[in-house]
Amino acid sequence: MHVYAIPLRSRFRDIDVREGVLIEGNAGWAEFSPFREYGDAEAATWWRAAREAADDGWPEPVRDWVPVNATVPAVSPSQVVEVLSRFPGCTTAKVKVAAAGQSPGEDLARLEAVRDALGPMGRVRIDANAAWDVDTAIRLLPRYADAAQGLEYVEQPCPSVEDLAEVRRRVSVPIAADESIRRAEDPLRVARLDAADVAVLKVQPMGGVRACLRIAEQIGLPVVVSSALETSIGIAAGVALAAALPELPYACGLATASLLERDVTEPLTAVDGFLPVRRPEPTPEGLAATAADKSVQEWWNLRIARIV
Ligand SMILES: [Mg+2]
Repeated sequence: MHVYAIPLRSRFRDIDVREGVLIEGNAGWAEFSPFREYGDAEAATWWRAAREAADDGWPEPVRDWVPVNATVPAVSPSQVVEVLSRFPGCTTAKVKVAAAGQSPGEDLARLEAVRDALGPMGRVRIDANAAWDVDTAIRLLPRYADAAQGLEYVEQPCPSVEDLAEVRRRVSVPIAADESIRRAEDPLRVARLDAADVAVLKVQPMGGVRACLRIAEQIGLPVVVSSALETSIGIAAGVALAAALPELPYACGLATASLLERDVTEPLTAVDGFLPVRRPEPTPEGLAATAADKSVQEWWNLRIARIV
């Protein structure tokens, strides 16, 4: 078992260092990396995904390459070109908006810079991480769509499924549900309430690749697979899901290895906007370069002892 701590290149979802655990089983290496603030019950679902990866492996892929998007954290407009350069060939960008301490004006400037960098054929989607109420979403979304010269979709503009449904009725920007699926008691409620056009699925928070495939079948929405800001070991599980889905109409949020300053192996990086479907193993150098200090290791040992 390897406990890692890896600095992020830019602050992302209010953390600067990503931590987690890698375990090795008969089927290969697996990642367990629920965010620190998550409780044990939620972390136990992430653990199931790690055990699936380590013990059982994943279903057969139906494709060899997975289209992926660039991810632009809440950076200043002057940093956008440099951020996008870490996603070779990606013509779709997901832009974080509504970050704590930032104004809509900063989001608009970032969106204009992304559109400039991608050109007219690029696709821009935004992720508000549930930061808005319905009125704010309805007021801001048309302005954001103007600044981006069209939005592919907005991910999780509001916290509740009811609010997503209302925003969806009142603005023309398509809605993607993320937190409303992966942190919900009932992930299918989004579909029943007509609250989303797209379902974002993440392997660890949903308890594994097979669990995600079942939800994808039941939810009846196009699926975008995203990472949970993992190392390439965790990302490989997302790639396995994306590779096994019958349909994959959108670029997936799996090219996130470059958000980390280091990786435990040769990072899964986009080639001409696609990730190859393969399963990496950590290298000795990668493990050495990412090892967490003792207090962090102890914290993760205790976390695992509580949920196993
Ligand atoms: Mg999201």
